[in-house]
Amino acid sequence: MPQKKIRVARSHTGLGLFATATIRKRALVVEYTGRRISTVKAQEIESRRANKYMFEINSRWTIDGSSRRNMARYVNHSCEPNAEAELVRGRMMFRAVETIAAGDEITIDYGEEYVELYFAKSGCKCVGCKEA
Ligand SMILES: [Zn+2]
Repeated sequence: MPQKKIRVARSHTGLGLFATATIRKRALVVEYTGRRISTVKAQEIESRRANKYMFEINSRWTIDGSSRRNMARYVNHSCEPNAEAELVRGRMMFRAVETIAAGDEITIDYGEEYVELYFAKSGCKCVGCKEA
């Protein structure tokens, strides 16, 4: 299980999730938790932009991660992320893809669909894109 080496804090795009200690490459960082709803229903809700915390497990099930208890919902998008989502025995885990230093923001790549849906007007504001 992920260790508690994370906290929610101010990011350049609002709130974000940050490491409070070194997180080793390949370590589990946080679980994306919430109730499961059907992916068809989730896509309908998403298309109305009513809830941006839908995390698709597969074509059948999606996690509604909108609860504030779900710390993983604070993870922001990056085109050069330091973590990735991975299904571990049916649970959605974020795993470090590189060693994350204390104080670093934890990011994952939510994919093209997400970027198009939420950054269509403003463009992606991740560190890599801002500097480009
Ligand atoms: Zn970007």
